[in-house]
Amino acid sequence: MKKQTKNYWLFLEPYAVLRIKKYEALIYNSLSGEKLVFNNDSLAFQLLKKLDGNNYVVGISESQLRNKDFQSFLELIKKFFLGDIVSKKLSDNKPFQFSPEYNIQNNRKRLRMNKDLLNYNIIQYLRGVSVYLNTSLEVDSEIYLDAYKQFTCLRDEDKKGDLSFEILVKLISGIEHSSIGYLNILGGNIFNYYRFDEAIAMLNNIPHQKNYYIHYNFIENLKNHPCLISEQNNFIVQIEDIKAVNFPELTCFQEKNKNIHYQFIIQDKDELSVLIDQNEKHNLKNNIIPYYNGKNVSFFSKNVFLDKKDILEIQETSFDMYLKSVLNPFDFGKLYVLNDGSVYGNLHDKSVGNLTDAEILGLIEKEFLNGSSWFKTRSRVKPCRNCIFDTLCPPISNYEYTFKSYNLCYKQKSTYVN
Ligand code: SF4
Repeated sequence: MKKQTKNYWLFLEPYAVLRIKKYEALIYNSLSGEKLVFNNDSLAFQLLKKLDGNNYVVGISESQLRNKDFQSFLELIKKFFLGDIVSKKLSDNKPFQFSPEYNIQNNRKRLRMNKDLLNYNIIQYLRGVSVYLNTSLEVDSEIYLDAYKQFTCLRDEDKKGDLSFEILVKLISGIEHSSIGYLNILGGNIFNYYRFDEAIAMLNNIPHQKNYYIHYNFIENLKNHPCLISEQNNFIVQIEDIKAVNFPELTCFQEKNKNIHYQFIIQDKDELSVLIDQNEKHNLKNNIIPYYNGKNVSFFSKNVFLDKKDILEIQETSFDMYLKSVLNPFDFGKLYVLNDGSVYGNLHDKSVGNLTDAEILGLIEKEFLNGSSWFKTRSRVKPCRNCIFDTLCPPISNYEYTFKSYNLCYKQKSTYVN
């Protein structure tokens, strides 16, 4: 058979991002957020696969150009400024096109083989620490038994105990010269910590942003601890019993202390509507956090799961997509220290060690090189690894760990396909 002369170059723009999986292909305009999805039985799918393997440029013959399917594909990519064709008369040699390719100098594998590359600078990867001073909350609510595994939250446990002050000192001296973005101080009821005043005095001496988590029932305690009030100290007041809240009082507290922020933990649509109503009446700095109690799946599916519209509206830069393909931006750089000194990259995973017999730098290195939390991407879990949206969707969240399912979405293939 006579080989057809390729008279044109079909090319994609460098800002186009391709995700090609077994059944679908996505081409995404990282400047405008436009997305096109094609099934694997389409000509477009084959073309994108070819473009992907050829630095975004492939030769096209006259007869291919006359093909109706090819023309529709070309029309679409032109319409969304994703690519075009050029005649070979302009360039007989294959034009060079920048396709997104990332060069990670110090990837995890390389660093594992040569730890010296970490350059004793491992602390730079630490972005934030949450430390539990105790776990006795004395609040009549079961939420605090396990909510801390869904979001940063106070905790109530049968096995009580305060964090050893020596461990707290060890932790603080390990991070005091770092540039971490925040230090969350949680309990239990932190006001009951056995060396509370000494702990606050020490924490006040480090320049980092501190977020003290307090239950609504103990908000008045702030008045008894003026040493806590400083520019660097925020107070996150968590509230689960929405119906018992005195909203005018909350406004009053916030007017007196601008660093108070309220977090409402909600479980159903009634609580949500009370809050929406109250937020209209009061000018409160607050956020609303859903709590999964094992029975409110439908509330989650309506309010937390991604629906078709959410996914199609996601707009990410190509860099952020790349980032999500190598690490979990929710978890990366975060450590949790429980009251027994154990340290976690994510509280759903195994502990990386305990501060009673390890240094914080060693534990950061352990999580960085061999831990399972910071680098857990969607491309590592089913079904996301087979989905073209794996780097567009938000990173794996604690809700997904709680649900033991990695696709809290309404992805129905047919609804996304052109
Ligand atoms: S959550 Fe997973 S399966 Fe659902 S759309 Fe995102 S990547 Fe795909």
